[in-house]
Amino acid sequence: MECFGATDTGRVRSSNQDTFRLGELSDGAVYAIVCDGMGGPNGGAIASALTADLLENRIVTQYRDDMPIASVLNLFESAILAANIEVLDTAGTNIDLLGMGTTVAVVLVQGREAVIAHVGDSRVYRLTKDGLRQETTDHSVVQEMIEKGQLTSAQAKVHPKKHFITRAIGVANDVRADFASITLEEGERLLLCSDGLSNMLSDTVLAEKLSGDNVPMLAQTLIQTANLAGGEDNITAVVIAERCDLT
Ligand code: CA
Repeated sequence: MECFGATDTGRVRSSNQDTFRLGELSDGAVYAIVCDGMGGPNGGAIASALTADLLENRIVTQYRDDMPIASVLNLFESAILAANIEVLDTAGTNIDLLGMGTTVAVVLVQGREAVIAHVGDSRVYRLTKDGLRQETTDHSVVQEMIEKGQLTSAQAKVHPKKHFITRAIGVANDVRADFASITLEEGERLLLCSDGLSNMLSDTVLAEKLSGDNVPMLAQTLIQTANLAGGEDNITAVVIAERCDLT
């Protein structure tokens, strides 16, 4: 698999508090991380960068070739707990950073096995031959309203409380992530994104853009499309797709 990402401030916000990281490991496994920070003028960017850096460092230093899925899940869990403590501790040392926090979505793909963890409303989507599937369930106020039948997911994208998340890294002494592992079918792609992408574009548009031929440019194309739709928030997209070696 190969991995491409991009991030953009969008057309409304003055700074970008999203962070992404991606890379390839020695056995050809790839990883990707998206964090969407919040709190204060500087805090959000610091929380998202601290968390993305800590997760990337743990993956790069602790991953072993052909590591069992259960071990990758353990690695993700301990890294997320460590990031929570690091963000809390950093916020505790500086009054300007008090209240900062971040979402995280992290994926590691080994062969066709994808291991996923997330906290908050940054998402992982899978593009299948039947269309787009959301592989993560947001930890958000509007998601809870959807589950109670009070909102449709289309209404949630424009709801005034769409930015309110119910779980985040760095806001409490403990944090609970959700974990999943899935087996990708041939040709399937994964998209990690912040809500600045998923709130601006319908699933139909996301699926159409994500299925494009120019894989290295897909993340930029998604961001451009979200900016054309208003770019109301910071926008981050990371695409994981099968390597297509040109001969
Ligand atoms: Ca956001």
